[in-house]
Amino acid sequence: MIQISKAIRIIDRETTILGTERIDIADATGRVLAENIVADTDLPPFDRSQMDGYAVKADDTKNAPVKLQIVGESAAGRGWHKTLISGEAVRIMTGAPVPKGADAVQKIELSSEVDGFVTLTEPTSKGRFIIAKGDEVRKGRVVLKQGSMIDPGNISLPAAFGYAKLKVSKRPRVAIVSTGSEIVEINKKPKQDQIRNSNSLMLTALCRRAGADPTVFPIVGDDISDLRSQISNAVKSSDILITTGGVSVGKYDLTKLALEQLGAEIFFGKVALKPGKPTVFGKLKKAFVFGLPGNPVSAAVTFHLFVRRLIGRMQGIANPFLKDGTAVVGARMKGTRERSSYLPASLSTDADGRLVATPIRWFGSSDFVGFAATDALVFVPAGEAVEAGETVKISFLLRY
Ligand code: AMP
Ligand code: MG
Repeated sequence: MIQISKAIRIIDRETTILGTERIDIADATGRVLAENIVADTDLPPFDRSQMDGYAVKADDTKNAPVKLQIVGESAAGRGWHKTLISGEAVRIMTGAPVPKGADAVQKIELSSEVDGFVTLTEPTSKGRFIIAKGDEVRKGRVVLKQGSMIDPGNISLPAAFGYAKLKVSKRPRVAIVSTGSEIVEINKKPKQDQIRNSNSLMLTALCRRAGADPTVFPIVGDDISDLRSQISNAVKSSDILITTGGVSVGKYDLTKLALEQLGAEIFFGKVALKPGKPTVFGKLKKAFVFGLPGNPVSAAVTFHLFVRRLIGRMQGIANPFLKDGTAVVGARMKGTRERSSYLPASLSTDADGRLVATPIRWFGSSDFVGFAATDALVFVPAGEAVEAGETVKISFLLRY
């Protein structure tokens, strides 16, 4: 049995980046940048008005109320390109360029306009209501780094700086194989002793969110020759194979044996982790193989800790780990003696504004119904318990 940190080091050691491709920016959500995004213009590209009102010389408004002659209009997309002089005002709209000669804007609410003249009722000051050229971003600045995943929060950056195509990392192709003689497809009514296959869809969703390209293969029963043939078939067209089930010590736990018989190199087969002790990581031909436990919660946790790491690193993600943080624990959580635990919790904010991690009421690692409300995993070191009110380390399941 190896420590979690060692397992992660092994994954990191074995990983190589898959390569890159150029894609249309419209298809880039969820993909990992293989280039820096550099601003090709200043932002704003000109001194921009923040208000509907009048562009003026601030000095002219010192003794407001003051009457100024309106000499033109600057609208968004259609500026006024002469030079304003003392005594003049230019009617200006939000987002429009501030004309040369003007150094301030006064808002329309503090004005009245009659017969080509505007009266400003209050003074304005130099720079007021103007965002100067380049204040937000200077041309040449790296606004998004290689290794970032494109998401709804950052896709406007490459868009705003003209990247119609993006260089991104190739997506790892992941084959997903659920094993177990009791597992049936989800469109079947389970007979006595049978269970529907929820793992394959869960892993598909997790893979997609991690940037990978998953394919679900048919369920395989606990039969060594079926396992061998399905596994060797599945690795042919994939960069990663994920199996679930059949990795514990029962008579019909045959996944690791099948991998060994096929000549796989096994890097580890047991991790000091709860849930998820019997996690197998190896390589068969050119594909990495993860044999995850069949229990849905164990499969989810080991995916988050290990598989996601591999998928992330194969795409060159800058930080391929779950986002860590701290929270106050809402109720006592107890780990186990020999293994560190990552226990499911939901997050909320208490009356003092503190982030609170409340343990999910669950019935162990098969309880995926309880687990569905999980926002974060609480780390409990081996042999320890955390008491209500203590600050603990958590890993957010929400995003990178
Ligand atoms: P195993 O790891 O094969 O010992 O399976 C542990 C538990 O997880 C058993 O109760 C299985 O029925 C359940 N299980 C295994 N595979 C799946 C699956 N694909 N979907 C849902 N539950 C599963
Ligand atoms: Mg089984």
